Amino acid sequence: MFDLTSRDIKYLSGVGPQRASVLNKELGIYSLHDLLYYFPYKYVDRSRIYYIHEIDGTMPYIQLKGEILGFETVGEGRQRRLIAHFSDGTGVIDLVWFQGIKFLVGKYKAHKEYIVFGKPSVFNGRINIAHPDIDDVSELKLSAMGLQPYYNTTEKMKRSFLNSHAIEKMMEIVIQQLREPLPETLSPGILAEHFLMPLTEALMNIHFPATPEQLRKAQYRLKFEELFYIQLNILRYAKDRQRKYRGYVFETVGEVFNTFYTRNLPFELTGAQKRVLKEIRRDMGGGRQMNRLLQGDVGSGKTLVALMSMLIALDNGYQACMMAPTEILANQHYETIRELLYGMDVRVELLTGSVKGKKREAILAGLLTKDVRILIGTHAVIEDTVNFSSLGLVVIDEQHRFGVAQRARLWTKNAQPPHVLVMTATPIPRTLAMTLYGDLDVSVIDELPPGRKPIVTIHKYDAHRVSLYQFIHKQIAEGRQVYIVYPLIKESEKIDLKNLEEGYLHICEEFPECKVCKVHGKMKTAEKDAQMRLFVSGEAQIMVATTVIEVGVNVPNASVMVIENAERFGLSQLHQLRGRVGRGAEQSYCILVTGYKLLEETRKRLEIMVRTNDGFEIAEADLKLRGPGDLEGTQQSGVAFDLKIADIARDGQLLQYVRDVAVTIVDADPTGVRPENEILWRQLKALRKTNVNWASIS
Ligand code: ADP
Ligand code: MG
Repeated sequence: MFDLTSRDIKYLSGVGPQRASVLNKELGIYSLHDLLYYFPYKYVDRSRIYYIHEIDGTMPYIQLKGEILGFETVGEGRQRRLIAHFSDGTGVIDLVWFQGIKFLVGKYKAHKEYIVFGKPSVFNGRINIAHPDIDDVSELKLSAMGLQPYYNTTEKMKRSFLNSHAIEKMMEIVIQQLREPLPETLSPGILAEHFLMPLTEALMNIHFPATPEQLRKAQYRLKFEELFYIQLNILRYAKDRQRKYRGYVFETVGEVFNTFYTRNLPFELTGAQKRVLKEIRRDMGGGRQMNRLLQGDVGSGKTLVALMSMLIALDNGYQACMMAPTEILANQHYETIRELLYGMDVRVELLTGSVKGKKREAILAGLLTKDVRILIGTHAVIEDTVNFSSLGLVVIDEQHRFGVAQRARLWTKNAQPPHVLVMTATPIPRTLAMTLYGDLDVSVIDELPPGRKPIVTIHKYDAHRVSLYQFIHKQIAEGRQVYIVYPLIKESEKIDLKNLEEGYLHICEEFPECKVCKVHGKMKTAEKDAQMRLFVSGEAQIMVATTVIEVGVNVPNASVMVIENAERFGLSQLHQLRGRVGRGAEQSYCILVTGYKLLEETRKRLEIMVRTNDGFEIAEADLKLRGPGDLEGTQQSGVAFDLKIADIARDGQLLQYVRDVAVTIVDADPTGVRPENEILWRQLKALRKTNVNWASIS
């Protein structure tokens, strides 16, 4: 059979070892099969050539044929740009470049015929195209060019001359080599029932569509397949688990819970908290093992729900454990929970990497005798040396920082897996939740405790620092505390640290009346904690920090969150940071500071932040803004899940549809033995082997 997976990309004509290594590293493309599944992110109709006299500044991408009359460089410094005057005999427009000027002057020649491609716009009354694609007329066969595919490439790829064009050429060669059809990956039944294009035809048309209609069909088939197998995987996994494991049955709500509820609970639960608790009780009482995702915006009171769920476990003779992604957060949960349980006879312990020696031994021993009933900690709680007498419930705070694989490790701590409650403050749109956590049931706390004032968000330019500082002085004079956050991006940690240090000194100078503390990821834990404590206790009025404070920290007296270089943060990150304020009774503010020059998309992000406090609305917008065509965006999303073609924001309907298809199949063939489904189970097995994310789920 024609097996493309075994054919190394480096032997493809024009590739070779050096470029192959770039493709390996940048895109994970190793074989011809991988290449073929690297899909274009857009197509452009290049069957038509426009005349210059036809165009105006409002048109989408167009192409022109003509020659460069001459070059000129204008402006100084950052404004410096290269302009080529380009004419086709019906008019003249400007081609403009802001970068790579030296290289370009050598590359393109005046009075030679080129095809120019780009988006026209108007500047100073003249039409121009910035950073156009330019091809020799001889190289482009117009007649053969209908919809031209465009592939995402990275900077490193471009340096090895692996631009979209180059990928396109490689793709052409592979497709020409396809003499016989590739093995089909969906069953004949599914293909027929849902009118899907056969695989090979779909792959050909996704790269080089014969017509827009064929493209649509190819896209549909490939999206269907992609989403289908994700769902099939999750459902099969859930089914197997249901068959293998039963859940502990927590039937009673007893003394511990009731004492807490009637005596210790300092306030009335919100309606949403009550509803969610009911859902959790139903799960844990039903004989099924609970796997529930609890979503709720920052400050919505998830911790309390988690605690009350743990108390139910205790009432039924089990222990409970809660994991947080950082030590600071684990500490805070520990403090909060101890305080909430004040006066009750429940031993709660904290286990983190810094709990050592005798103290640690005592906790471990207490877990085995069931003396320790609630354990709170970091990753430390899933180490092999930590064993429980009877672990009944595990709460995981902030799933995003906690791999699915780690979640699975918890199960090995018991004969029977404990109930699992995953909490996240990053609202996940329903469709995404279905894909990422398709085996989890979802509860949502969609109501904030009473008396909270919505946070006022303001976008400010760098240049208006004076008024910003006046505002901060005023807030501090009123007794409030202030966060000032700097971005931290791994690749340039050094630079970022420098920014932070400079920012810190600058703030100390600007606010001589204040104590300023400082926290960043490179600090030793003890030092970090000491600085945190300064802020938590109110001794320090200003905290300068990188995003380590993003998750969980609770200082109700902090009323201002200033985010420096806000353009460098993603939407969900901004929203998380903003959630650090607005926890007390005072009006809180989030101030997004940026330079003047902003990309259109960045501007949109900031606008959304200013407009709404609703985490779900922000999450939806985030998903829409980060189209599939944005490599960088996908990596930053924090979700280790890249879809090749389907777009969870746009393909929600299809996702629901294929989920139903997958449900029907798994229900009818729960053990995976029916011959008509053989192709499906075989393909699923193959995907589980090659897909890292899937492997960790199953
Ligand atoms: P989350 O973990 O969802 O971000 P927390 O559980 O930390 O939120 O709760 C935020 C704050 O709101 C805490 O100070 C908590 O004590 C308080 N809180 C929680 N539930 C209620 C409620 N029903 N009424 C009033 N305050 C509440
Ligand atoms: Mg929390």
